[in-house]
Amino acid sequence: MPFALTKTFKIDIGHRIWNEDMRSGRGSELYQPESNLPVNKCAALHGHSLGVTFKFQSKKLDEHGFVLDSNLLKAPLSQLIAKLDHAMVIDRNDPLFGPITQLCDQFALKYYPVNFCPSFEALAKFFFDECQKIIDQCRHGEEFSLLGVTIRGAKMSVEATYERP
Ligand SMILES: [Zn+2]
Repeated sequence: MPFALTKTFKIDIGHRIWNEDMRSGRGSELYQPESNLPVNKCAALHGHSLGVTFKFQSKKLDEHGFVLDSNLLKAPLSQLIAKLDHAMVIDRNDPLFGPITQLCDQFALKYYPVNFCPSFEALAKFFFDECQKIIDQCRHGEEFSLLGVTIRGAKMSVEATYERP
């Protein structure tokens, strides 16, 4: 589709990749033991400042010259972002889910349980699915579509994208 519109939100999240092990899985033959890099570096509790970019597309512009008036997206997407902002995003399958959430409950710390290991890639799909639920409510939803979501680490060279299959 020729027209595209992106909207980016800033978010800070905590997470951990509880099942990381660089010695197994895709690309594990690239692991260099002499690098002294911990094989599960990202299993530590840590956080990121992220940009979450939603990309919309359309074949034609609407009567106002827009793919979609981006101001209409601001409130619902801000509410979505706010649910996770400054939260520990934690997988219900994480073996430390119980102890971590108990600690968060005890000290009134924000967390957001999910059903997946919260890598950037998986978070991009999460935001895609949640945004799709929002635009499914739009009467003219078939005239534009969500193309994908990209997650960028603010001080990192890595970004992850989930695109509509
Ligand atoms: Zn991380």
